[in-house]
Parts: sequence; structure tokens; C-alpha cells
Amino acid sequence: MDAFARSEALAAYAAETAGCVKCRLAETRSQVVFGSGNPDAELMIVGEAPGYHEDQGGLPFAGQAGELLAQLLAGIGLTPEAVYLANVLKCRPPQNRDPLEAEITACEPHLFRQIELVRPRVVATLGNFATKLLSGRSLGITRVHGQEQEVTLASTTVLLYPLYHPAAALYTPSMLKALEDDFSRLPGLLGHATVTPVARTPLDSAPEAPRRPLEDLDRTEAESALVGAVQLGLF
Ligand code: URA
Repeated sequence: MDAFARSEALAAYAAETAGCVKCRLAETRSQVVFGSGNPDAELMIVGEAPGYHEDQGGLPFAGQAGELLAQLLAGIGLTPEAVYLANVLKCRPPQNRDPLEAEITACEPHLFRQIELVRPRVVATLGNFATKLLSGRSLGITRVHGQEQEVTLASTTVLLYPLYHPAAALYTPSMLKALEDDFSRLPGLLGHATVTPVARTPLDSAPEAPRRPLEDLDRTEAESALVGAVQLGLF
């Protein structure tokens, strides 16, 4: 199938998936958040699940983690539109709780079909859920981040590249540094020799809560930041 046919097939599959009722998240979601970006991308990025903003707007990575992701991409000369963004779950879990095993199993065929149709060279998994699902291994992200591995997913051979989740890196400076370092290797993994950074608005000017180290937050803020990150299964 050529790139045009694959892109048409992806759009048709997205339309079909909009009515998915394979799990109970269909009862609480506002809409299915299928994926976004370039249907012929060399780089596919797989997160965990839609949150509030994604559920409302229908696009992945619409909140603060997405803002950081866009900044990291800009640093290597890419935009969110140039890559393909997807999640393990296509529907928001209530209160952003962790995905359940049954939900992951029900939703998995959607992600595998996306990989089959986009045919990326590199699949970067953000955090534990995406990494464990696509590597088929139980090793946590702290152990495996930055370690690429060739895997065959949906009869497509890709380079799997586990990364810390940007939502976790927002609150943990050491994780942000590791994420930046791991990101800097992406052009090489994609076979790009040089990168031209794309200018972006700095994250600190975003109207949402500014990114601050945990030690600068008061106790309640720090606790809620950590609870949020742990709820996302980020550690
Ligand atoms: N937004 C997403 O779409 N996925 C995540 O994993 C986090 C935020």
C-alpha cells in the first residue's frame, strides 16, 4: 500500500473507531481520541491515555505535557504535526486513573493498526504503560529509558525507543534532564544527521501552572503533583 492509500485507510479506521464500545470507558468518555499528526511519519509517539483536555478537544497531548512534548520536538527540528501522536488508550479513564489491564487489551488492536498503517521507523513510548505494552516486557521505564530495541509490531519492524513521560518530567528536574538527553538521540535514530530547532513559545509563558521543581512547591502542591504523577503510572 502506498502512503496515500495508507493515509486513507487510517482516516477510515479513525472514523470506525469513533463509535468504539469495546470497553466501559465508552460510557464515560466525551469522545474517542484516536491520534493526530502525519499519517506517514517516520516517528510515532505513544503516550498513555487522553486526559481532560484531550477528551474535550479530541486530540492527544493537548495539555501541559503536550506543551513540553512540543518543546522537546522543536529542539530536534520537529513539530507535533510532523510526527504521529497516539495513546495506548483512546478514551479517557475517569479521574485520569491508571488504565486497567482489560482496557489495554480491548484497545490494543487500535494502536497496532495505527502502527501498521503509519509504518514509522521509530516508535517512542512515553512512560510505563506504552513501553510495557509495546516491548512485551515488564521492565519499568526507569530501567529502560533511552535504550532502543528493534521489535516487530503488527508485521512492521520498528525501533522502539522508551522515554520518560513528559507529565512526570514536568515535576522532576532529573527526569526532565534524562528526557532531554534521550530526545537528543532521536535524530540519529531516525537517520537524520543534523537538526534545525523550531522556534516555540517557552513553556514558562503558558497560562497553566508553571513548571517548578518539587522543592519549590508548598506541601499541598507537591503532594498533588506527586499523586498526579503516580496516578499516571509514571514511575
Ligand atoms: N495526553 C495524552 O494524550 N497522553 C498522555 O499520555 C498524557 C497526556
